Amino acid sequence: MEIKEFKAESKRLLDLVINSIYTHKEIFLRELISNASDAIDKIYYRALTDETLQFNKDDYYIKIIADKDDRTLRVIDTGIGMTKDELEDNLGIIAKSGTLAFKEEIEIEDGYDIIGQFGVGFYSAFMVADTVTVISKSLDSGQGYRWESKGVDGYTIEEWDKDTVGTEIILKIKESTEDEDYDEFLEEYRLRSIIKKYSDFIRYPIKMDVTKSRLKEGSKEEYEDYIEEETINSMVPIWRKNKNELTEEDYTNFYFEKRYGFDKPIKHIHISADGAVRYNAILFIPEQIPFNYYTAEYEKGLELYSSGVLIMNKCADLIPDYFSFIKGMVDSEDLSLNISREMLQHDRQLKLIARNIKNRIKSELSNLLKADRDKYEKFYNSFGRQLKYGVYRDFGNNKDVLQDLLMFYSSKEKKLVTLDEYILRMKEEQKYIYYAAGESNERLAVLPQTELLSEKGFEILYLTDDVDEFALKMLNSYKEKEFRSVSGSDLGIEDKEDKDENAEKDTNKELFEKMKTILSDKVKDVRTSKRLKSHPVCLINEGEISIEMEKVLSVMPDNQKIKAEKVLEVNKNHEVFKALEDAYKNDEDRFELFTKLLYNQALLIEGLSVNNPVEFSNDICRLMI
Ligand code: ADP
Ligand code: MG
Repeated sequence: MEIKEFKAESKRLLDLVINSIYTHKEIFLRELISNASDAIDKIYYRALTDETLQFNKDDYYIKIIADKDDRTLRVIDTGIGMTKDELEDNLGIIAKSGTLAFKEEIEIEDGYDIIGQFGVGFYSAFMVADTVTVISKSLDSGQGYRWESKGVDGYTIEEWDKDTVGTEIILKIKESTEDEDYDEFLEEYRLRSIIKKYSDFIRYPIKMDVTKSRLKEGSKEEYEDYIEEETINSMVPIWRKNKNELTEEDYTNFYFEKRYGFDKPIKHIHISADGAVRYNAILFIPEQIPFNYYTAEYEKGLELYSSGVLIMNKCADLIPDYFSFIKGMVDSEDLSLNISREMLQHDRQLKLIARNIKNRIKSELSNLLKADRDKYEKFYNSFGRQLKYGVYRDFGNNKDVLQDLLMFYSSKEKKLVTLDEYILRMKEEQKYIYYAAGESNERLAVLPQTELLSEKGFEILYLTDDVDEFALKMLNSYKEKEFRSVSGSDLGIEDKEDKDENAEKDTNKELFEKMKTILSDKVKDVRTSKRLKSHPVCLINEGEISIEMEKVLSVMPDNQKIKAEKVLEVNKNHEVFKALEDAYKNDEDRFELFTKLLYNQALLIEGLSVNNPVEFSNDICRLMI
């Protein structure tokens, strides 16, 4: 028997693994099973070119045997096996798959993360076992070998009789301590669930001896235990199956099984890509908003598999934030099993997949919008807000992806409409897409600022979500039509009476100046209104920040006290204006009273509170008396 030392790096890594406080120790089984599966793959590929070798499917499997009495867990495979040199090279130094190729870049002390993010392959066995024994016979040599290690001290290697080609890994499971339970790794039900979770779609059967109970022969009530071999994994993943073989129900079942959600998804998307990057994906558009969706707690991401082996539960890089509601998985043979999170971010393949997926989701949503409006609206009611956030957050960069998917409530159609539909209905003389922002459709429907536009028969989009106006500001225009707020200073409507109006404005210039002085700290200007028909006053804004935006910003945690530049517009055709003029000429006090009252009314119409409610109430009393 030869006694050998591990190479220095391996020693350090082993030390980390053994002493790790990593919480998902269960992944050791995933690692061992995928090694076993890789080893069988090797025979399979060899058989493709080697005529002397037959690959009979039934001969190739992985077997798990747990023995509580001597605390051993065995992982047996009928794969290609390892020669003596291979045992030393492959298990004596850090795996070649790149696991520690990044070790220079990372803090090796930070073992917690290394395991979580890289996976440490074969060495992960030491997280749960004191002693690891590997008995292997290679397809290429007639002799079997036994490799054994208790950890950092080194390993032994010796010749060993083994009948069949393949590998058997024996873990002597650690004793449980107060803080750590290791017994679970000897429990059938636990092993079964780990296998199901991580390795369900391994191509070869993963068999396990399962204890079952049956009536004793000849007895009516006495039971006896017996052992039966069961295949635990389902092997062929649904995403590898042909779409034609699958029913809607299969997809829904998969959605439930995977616990993507408890609702019935609105739509599934099954992708089998075979181009620049090969991958399969099954994606779902859920119907309902997850309860924590619009909170910081919600984590977006898709499950990521590499050749059927789960490598990440929530790979966030696969979907953009604005599609964060998408659930599902991606499996690609072009990704390595032990790729780290950091590496993934820069992975070219992954980026390609992410781009593909993004485009696909977009086109599926567009199709849904065209083909099944009701369903789309259902979707939009749940997740439309996220799309609008997407437009806003990326400074309109996602315009092309998102703008056609947006919908807003229409003053004319009394339902959600797309921007495209709006444009198609625009009047010939209409230059802009008009919108009104406020609390509810009902309130917006009676907003004074819309009077002129409604009279002209222009459609108005009602924006009732916080994010709406911000999003449209980012878009700026749709198909070359600019957005205009009904409360903006310029509605962009050519007016034949423009000249007269100006002349007339002059006659009241001083009156407006006086009003402005009275309201000096509250409004930037007081002006004649063209947009009002039956209402006496309204507030509009100059500049980029609207009154609605001011409201939204004022409740933000990092309240930046951004204010809209407000302008009070007065309707000179309203009877109240005569009273105002009269007071202006004859009674200074009364003029001030009227001015303040009109301003306060304008505030109330906007859904803002009056600055001094007591004063306002007293002012009304004065009027009544
Ligand atoms: P990786 O699988 O990423 O290469 P591991 O640490 O999991 O890294 O395994 C190291 C190497 O040991 C493998 O690449 C393989 O060559 C060899 N190996 C591990 N387990 C087996 C097995 N069951 N059968 C044959 N070879 C194996
Ligand atoms: Mg491995």
